[in-house]
Amino acid sequence: MNLFESLETHEHEQLVFCSDKESGLKAIIAIHSTTLGPSLGGCRMWPYENEEAALKDVLRLSRGMTYKAAVAGLNLGGGKAVIIGDSKTMKNETLFRSFGRFVQSLGGRYITAEDVGTSVHDMEWVSCETNFVTGIHQERGGSGDPSPVTALGVFFGIKAALKWKSGSDSFAGKRVVVQGLGQVGQSLVTRLVEAGAKVVAADIFEGNIKKAVAANPSIEIINPDAVYSTPCDIFVPCALGGVVNDDTIDKLRCGIVAGSANNVLADEDKHSVALQKKDILYIPDFVISAGGLINVANELQGYRRQQALDQASGIYDIVMQILKIAEVENTTTQKASMTLAERRIAQLGHIKKKFIGVPLGKRMC
Ligand code: NAD
Repeated sequence: MNLFESLETHEHEQLVFCSDKESGLKAIIAIHSTTLGPSLGGCRMWPYENEEAALKDVLRLSRGMTYKAAVAGLNLGGGKAVIIGDSKTMKNETLFRSFGRFVQSLGGRYITAEDVGTSVHDMEWVSCETNFVTGIHQERGGSGDPSPVTALGVFFGIKAALKWKSGSDSFAGKRVVVQGLGQVGQSLVTRLVEAGAKVVAADIFEGNIKKAVAANPSIEIINPDAVYSTPCDIFVPCALGGVVNDDTIDKLRCGIVAGSANNVLADEDKHSVALQKKDILYIPDFVISAGGLINVANELQGYRRQQALDQASGIYDIVMQILKIAEVENTTTQKASMTLAERRIAQLGHIKKKFIGVPLGKRMC
């Protein structure tokens, strides 16, 4: 792989290779953009097949974070880190503290957090060596589990989609199919039931189904394979990525697709157009699932729960903005979301070109 060509393709700013033989640390930090503020993105630990796979992943994920933060109206850029290794067998204090020291050496250009393969506990080790870590445990003054905030954002994002599609944002009597009853799915189901929706749900893990039914006995459980073809107003993917693909798209019998799962569309361009052709309103996952990022971003300013929740509720207005752009510019919601993010970065990047003398003290924006 030609490294500089890869960075230039998606306009990354910086790539940092972190190596520490003693602890076994092999990590890559990618900073995609710091136009809006310090780059923020989780640290993923994964047994990549080879270094090129790790590099591709960190470049792709860090770019995604730029768009997610920009569209959510946050004063943050996009970054991501990957640690190459098996999270089941290779985790130890030295490894994460060593990673923390590399993060600190970037002076705040990159802020890390937990991600796939890393936990709040691991971030506590990281926090021994750097100030630039967020998403730590509530007992230590952090924001804790982001899932309820993510779920709230998804709830309000769907509400906006309903308003656009049917003229009313009421969930009363709406049939909603939820795929995945994990952290986000369960919290969302409770909100949907409280709002009067008829919830149909599926999971592959019996334990999570039992928990969800205990909390909300009115929900109907269906076979995981039936989620696509079950007629409903809204299909909410809260499990895996790539669930809207060449095989599933023809089965969908819904009016709206909107859920937290990362990368819902197997192919962003192709499947967003295909959904539009079927008159299915798609709300991009990176817009609707921003509650988790909003939550950790709030931690950076001194965490206040209500403020994080209020900001996540604002996803309603963001979705409305995107839908208007898509309509006016006759494009897909996927493209409209990217456009909204790119315009904000360009506009704020432009005003930042002016020298303003004394810089803004400690604030992030
Ligand atoms: P989770 O692991 O707690 O829950 C996922 C659930 O999906 C599990 O119960 C799992 O058994 C189930 N599942 C897996 N395959 C399935 C299938 N084929 N059919 C039905 N169910 C299946 O994860 P989570 O934290 O709830 O996150 C859900 C999705 O949202 C993920 O894609 C995650 O990346 C994304 N997301 C989460 C957050 C957050 O704050 N937790 C923020 C942004 C995005």
